Formats: sequence, structure tokens, C-alpha cells
Amino acid sequence: MRLTGSDSGMNAPISDAGMGRIAREHGAVLRFAPAGTMRDLSSSDRLASPPSITLGTYANPEARAADFFHELGHCVNTSDTVIATMGNELRAWITGFEIASAAGVTFSTSEVARCFRELSSYLGTDASADDRLWHDAKGW
Ligand SMILES: [Zn+2]
Repeated sequence: MRLTGSDSGMNAPISDAGMGRIAREHGAVLRFAPAGTMRDLSSSDRLASPPSITLGTYANPEARAADFFHELGHCVNTSDTVIATMGNELRAWITGFEIASAAGVTFSTSEVARCFRELSSYLGTDASADDRLWHDAKGW
């Protein structure tokens, strides 16, 4: 799996229609938050039928696309709990990047770094074994 393209952004920008199609291909529905709401935010409801993703308004289209694939990862990872543990968040990023890669969408190294900074914000939010694995992997 290739996570990164270059530092100049996505190798192939993905349209709203393209994201909607990929969501449907994975059994999910993509909705867009009203303009000006959910700034730089996205969410997903894996328990909805069908699972739904709501994509906010982003200043950075690459971050918007990466967050879309992350939320799709949550929708696809049906064996995860809905609780936002470190492990669930990590798996959602990995699954999302795999789906993106299969669709020919790769991200810049700076965007991938942002995703991992986002992930690290979940450190210490629970006392799960997943958290422990992350700490051990980082040597903390
Ligand atoms: Zn998440």
C-alpha cells in the first residue's frame, strides 16, 4: 500500500461525486453539511442504515478527502465498537487509506502527517489495550 504521493498534494483530486460513488460502493451514503457548518470536521454514523458520512466545509480539499476516507473506514470496520478508541481510530485511517489507494487516490506526506497528528489526539482517551499497543510501538 502506498500512502503518499508527494508533498504537492493529492495525486488526483477526487470530486464530491467520486466520493459519493465510493461511499455507495462500500454500502454507505455521503451527505454534505450545509455551507459554513462543520468547519474542517466530518462525522460518520456506522449504526445508521445505511451507514452515513457527513462531510463538513474544509479550507483544505486534501484534508477533506482524507477525512472522508477515514469516516468511510469507520463505516466499513463493522467489528469495531462505536467508541472512539485509539485502535478504532487507527484502523479507520488504515482502512480509509487502503480504499483510497485502491481508487487511485494517494495523499501528500504532509497530509498523512496531519492524519497521524489527528490520531495522536486520541492518546489517553481510554485505557484500552489498543492504547497500550500504540505506546509500546512508539517506545513511550
Ligand atoms: Zn475517527
